[in-house]
Amino acid sequence: MKPRFGLMRGREFVMKDMYSFDTDETSAKDTYNEICASYDRIFDKLDMEYVKVLGDTGDIGGTLSHEYQFKAPIGEDCILSCNSCTFSANLEVCHERKCPKCGEENNVLVQNGIEVGHTFLLGDKYSKPLKAFYLGKNSKPQVLHMGSYGLGLSRILAACVEVLSTDTDIVWPDVLVPYSVVILPPKAGSKEEQVTKDVPENLYNYLEDSVPSLRDNIVLDDRLSLTIGRRYLDAKRTGYRYIIVINEKSSGDKPLYELNDTKETDRLYLSQEELVDYIRQNTKF
Ligand SMILES: [Zn+2]
Repeated sequence: MKPRFGLMRGREFVMKDMYSFDTDETSAKDTYNEICASYDRIFDKLDMEYVKVLGDTGDIGGTLSHEYQFKAPIGEDCILSCNSCTFSANLEVCHERKCPKCGEENNVLVQNGIEVGHTFLLGDKYSKPLKAFYLGKNSKPQVLHMGSYGLGLSRILAACVEVLSTDTDIVWPDVLVPYSVVILPPKAGSKEEQVTKDVPENLYNYLEDSVPSLRDNIVLDDRLSLTIGRRYLDAKRTGYRYIIVINEKSSGDKPLYELNDTKETDRLYLSQEELVDYIRQNTKF
């Protein structure tokens, strides 16, 4: 289950594709900017470090193109960011260290990146030869102005895991994690189990009722024949954001729950009200 490198090795990926058709260059550019802005919002929400760079129109052609790149040492692309003129671009070759726009050679940063999205303003490159016309004023055929936009959906998943994870733990962005919380009840037959009979399920219901975003977003790991330790390791490999362990402290008048926030190192003992506050304040749902 070790995720490193394996996921990015796949050459096949699911892509979200979109094409736009406008009646003139200006409105095509407006559409292009609108789509780019919504891509920006998607990547901002993922909370990944990304750069949007001027792309190479390359084989696809057109007049303008942008790439969305996650910053990652294992990335195959080389991204140059110029601090003199704020220009960013995907370099043809990694040993280039000169800003193509202003010529700056020292105040530049070259990093590896993983391409996760690409937008093209195509102009009439395809619509003209394919005669994609509309009838304009006086019923004269006019050529359509096109844009093309892609997000590598499965590549985004793989790249997030690749960038955020460690050798033993999968880490997802909060908005992509399959489940935010896992609750680990004590092993069957243990003394902790005797004193916490209904606790795991009650906590599950309490969290769901208190935080709407946790509805259908919690797993109760009731493989009670396995030790807590074993299920804890599985939880880290699955990538839940929060691992809540039920133990002897979770019984009695003032029950406390062991909260392991996988983005932090300390484990916390919290009441169920404090648990809800903590999750609300620290999670991007
Ligand atoms: Zn520059």
